[in-house]
Amino acid sequence: MVAVMPAAGRRTSEPLGPAACESDAKKLEYIEEMTANAGEVQERVLAEILSRNAGTEYLRRHGMGGATDRKTFREKLPVVTYEDLRPEIQRIADGDRSAILSAEPISEFLTSSGTSAGERKLMPTIEEDLDRRELLYSLLMPVMNVYVPGLDKGKGLYFLFVKSETKTAGGLAARPVLTSYYNSHHFRQRPFDPYNVYTSPTAAILCPDPRQSMYAQMLCGLLHRLDVLRVGAVFASGLLRAIRFLQLNWRSLAADIASGELSAEVSDRSVREALFPLLRPDPDLARFIAGECAAGEWGGIVRRIWPKTKYLDVIVTGAMAPYIPTLEFYSGGLPMACTMYASSECYFGLNLRPMCPPAEVAYTIMPNMGFFEFIPLDSGDASPAPPVGLTEVEQGKEYELVITTYAGLYRYQVGDVLQVAGFHNTAPAFKFVRRKNVILSIDSDKTDEAELQAAVGRAAAWLAEASGLGVAEYTSQACTEEIPGHYVVYWELIGGGSAAAEVMERCCWEMEEALNVVYRQNRARDGSIGPLEIRVVRQGTFEEVMDCAIARGASINQYKLPRCVGFRPIIELLDSRVVAAHFSPAPPTWWPEGSRGRA
Ligand code: AMP
Repeated sequence: MVAVMPAAGRRTSEPLGPAACESDAKKLEYIEEMTANAGEVQERVLAEILSRNAGTEYLRRHGMGGATDRKTFREKLPVVTYEDLRPEIQRIADGDRSAILSAEPISEFLTSSGTSAGERKLMPTIEEDLDRRELLYSLLMPVMNVYVPGLDKGKGLYFLFVKSETKTAGGLAARPVLTSYYNSHHFRQRPFDPYNVYTSPTAAILCPDPRQSMYAQMLCGLLHRLDVLRVGAVFASGLLRAIRFLQLNWRSLAADIASGELSAEVSDRSVREALFPLLRPDPDLARFIAGECAAGEWGGIVRRIWPKTKYLDVIVTGAMAPYIPTLEFYSGGLPMACTMYASSECYFGLNLRPMCPPAEVAYTIMPNMGFFEFIPLDSGDASPAPPVGLTEVEQGKEYELVITTYAGLYRYQVGDVLQVAGFHNTAPAFKFVRRKNVILSIDSDKTDEAELQAAVGRAAAWLAEASGLGVAEYTSQACTEEIPGHYVVYWELIGGGSAAAEVMERCCWEMEEALNVVYRQNRARDGSIGPLEIRVVRQGTFEEVMDCAIARGASINQYKLPRCVGFRPIIELLDSRVVAAHFSPAPPTWWPEGSRGRA
């Protein structure tokens, strides 16, 4: 391709393509157009959001006076966190229908996996946001088709789930963004698209019982094994959970396939109806599945059961990165495609090179999804630098994402730290670096240092009461060696003593009880997190950890024990000093949010 001289101030990139079909070509052109005019699109989006919502209580209170320009916006509106907006959100949740944040009525709340005071954050959304989400989804396959031909010749085996939903005191639905999307007509009545045929019937995806839903989706995946071209889930942890499910349930699944009868375990009527036409006695397939699974050779199982799979469609960036080796093992080294970056607050962008290795994944922000600002993180100044615009970010630098949305979040800190990896036309592509403050994560849970501290505090109080012992030091790790992964908390007890097993087990459970609702739901309802483990280490271990850090260059005066460790040599040191390990004997209490009368 002939290099084109960039116009002044513009950065160019190879155009996307060739498109697989005419409708894909239109979508790719659309991406080119949006990214080529990122600055202009952002100005338009900001003006639209501010003019539509000019009469809202929030914008009036901040003295916007109907202005729609970036300068006034920056001068008048503060950068905020969820805590700042909590009073407004609570009023909406309680039933105040006046134009508080958004002129458009809030259609529902999206419950984020980010928590505040132990509860999921409630993100306001408006009806038309569904169109924006659908728009971003509609761009994914046209991009993928550029890199992987023939995806219209088969199906996708995706493990997709809805989660529990509730109503706020004021009667608005509160549910995760994907639950909202799967229940929308956009998903339920989607037109046939040969590039987007799923093995899972919609009824199986919408089944509220996670076990029945998984059973039905896995069964359909096995029945269509020779049609499957891609295997996926939203996050890596979800796909691994499906593989684990196969390991534990293949006998029953194979029996259903052999007899052509669906196990009575699946009692959901609409799932039974959806599966009925698919099941015929197929002893050969049943024998094949049983043979593969009984052999106990799980390495490469995905390739053997679904031999035409071209890639795994699953997010392995951010908190999911530790799962990459396990996925490689089970899939026999299939490529992993991370296609998009989104949240309850706003959908952000997509990976324009989805088949790149995980370490190179970068998400190009689509400038029409919302208005984006970025707080520079490495400015070196004591006070935080002011946010810059989407087209003002610099290659290689790290930023914290701040968004302004159509639904009425203004200059809201999402909590994600991103690094500019490059540009597509004038739109930056970001590597996901980390979630601010989160130290432990297994699935969608996000535990920060303060939450872990509070959990240790609660368990330590129980330990003191039951055995008179105290916790001298602690740290933790998210252990993903087994599926599901679990939290491991290392404790050194004062005086190096140890307590009875029942006491320590109760300590594990007390910690789980103290953790946030997303952790407890993942653990108690979804089974996506295993029982919390306390590993008691012998006296002096944490001093050794400090010595090790100092030997590696840490300052002796400034040394602070990390409350979470990921560095292998430190984990190995801790593990080699373990004197006893205890697991939580029962899942923590969990109830659907709102069912206790809260918003
Ligand atoms: P939620 O609001 O529960 O939907 O969670 C959204 C958060 O999940 C984002 O703010 C990110 O922290 C994380 N996330 C979403 N997509 C990705 C991705 N592709 N890679 C890494 N983290 C992601």
